[in-house]
Amino acid sequence: MFLSAVLFLSCGTLYRVPCPDTAQMRQTVNELCSPTYEGRLAGHTGDSLLASLLAHKLSALGFEPFFENGPLQPFSVKSIHSYNTVMIYRGRNANRTLLIGAHYDHLGTGGKGSGSLRPDTLAIHFGADDNASGVAMAIETARLLTLHARSRPDLFKANIIVAAFGAEEAGTLGSKKLADTLAALAQLPDLMINLDMTGRLKDSVLQVSGTGTFSQADSLLASARTEHFPLKLKTSLSGYGPSDHAVFYTQKVPVLFFTTGPHADYHTPFDTPDKLNYPGMVDIAAYVTGVAAGFAEGNFIPVCLETDVPDMGTPKAAFKASLGVIPDFTYEGKGFCAGTVIAGRPSQRAGMKNGDVVIAIDNTPIKNIEDYMKKLATLEKGMTITIVVQRESQNYTLEVTL
Ligand SMILES: [Zn+2]
Repeated sequence: MFLSAVLFLSCGTLYRVPCPDTAQMRQTVNELCSPTYEGRLAGHTGDSLLASLLAHKLSALGFEPFFENGPLQPFSVKSIHSYNTVMIYRGRNANRTLLIGAHYDHLGTGGKGSGSLRPDTLAIHFGADDNASGVAMAIETARLLTLHARSRPDLFKANIIVAAFGAEEAGTLGSKKLADTLAALAQLPDLMINLDMTGRLKDSVLQVSGTGTFSQADSLLASARTEHFPLKLKTSLSGYGPSDHAVFYTQKVPVLFFTTGPHADYHTPFDTPDKLNYPGMVDIAAYVTGVAAGFAEGNFIPVCLETDVPDMGTPKAAFKASLGVIPDFTYEGKGFCAGTVIAGRPSQRAGMKNGDVVIAIDNTPIKNIEDYMKKLATLEKGMTITIVVQRESQNYTLEVTL
C-alpha cells in the first residue's frame, strides 16, 4: 500500500496507475535476447528454459499456474515441440477475465523459409522488438496491475491471465493451442490484449487494433488517457491481423492489439535491444496498464462484435516476386500503404518512401491490401512494373524492377 502510494505520487499526473520501471523491462529484453537462446526459434532446446524463466518472474509477482500441472503448457504442432507460459492472478471479487498475451519466440538464426527478410544472412535474429519488447511489457503490466489490485481490492473485479506464447512466427501455434484449450474448457477470457512489437515507439504513435470487436472499446481506451497523455493513438477496427490476437478473435473473444508497428530492422538480425525506445515502452506500459485496470474496474463484460474478415487472397508461398515493403496493416484509406520500405530492395531502389500508398500497378487500380496481394501474385522476379503511389496528396509514377 505504502509503496504504491509513493509510486502514484512520483508519477504525477502522467499516469493513473503505478509507474512502469524501465530497468525491469530492459532486463527482460536482455534476457530474452541473450545469445544462449540463439534467436528463440520455436522448438529450440532453450524454449523450456525461456518459458520457465517467464513463469518464475510471474510467480514472483503473485501469479499462479493456470493449469493444474504447472505454469508451462507444452504443445507439439508440425513437428515443433514448444511451450506456452500461462499464469493467473485472481482478483478478489473477479467476475471476468482478462488475458494479456505476448509471443516470446523469434526466427533463430534466420535462413531460407525462416521468415527472415535477410534470408541469405545466417546470424542470430535477436528479435528485441519482435517480441522481447511485448513480453517485457506484459510482465511489467502484470506487475503494475497486481500493485493496483492490491491497493484497490474491492474495485478490482478481474482475474488476469498472462500468457507468453511459443511458436507465433511458425503460424501462431502456441496461441492457437491455448485458445483451443480454453474454448474446450469454456474458459475463454472476456478480453484479450496482445502486445507484439511494442518497443519502437516513433513520433509517439501507438497503433491499437480491435476497436470494433466490442462496443465499449473506444470509451475504455479514452478512459485510460491521462491529462498529459504522451501517445498518439492510431486505431483500427479489425480483430484480425498478423499476430496472436487474431486466434482469440476467431474464437469470438474481443481483442485489443497494441503495437508500435514494423520498421526497417523487422525480421532481420538488426532488431537488437539497443534500438528499443525504453522511455516509449514506459509510456505504453503505463497506458496498457490503465486500459487493463479500466477493464478490471469497469462495469461491463464485453460482447464480441464482428469486424471485416480480411481476404488475403493467394497464400504467401505463391508469390514469386516481392517489392520489399512491409504493409501498414492499420491503414484504412484507399490503396495499399507501404508502412516500411526495406533498404536495398526493389521498391526502395525505385524511390519508394515509407508511408507511400500504392494506388495502381501496371494500370490495375489497387484499392486495398487484397487488391495488392492479388496483383503481386501475378508478378515474377525480373519484371519491370509501373507503380503509381500517393505521397502527401501528390501522385508519383515509379518504375520498379523486381
Ligand atoms: Zn515477427
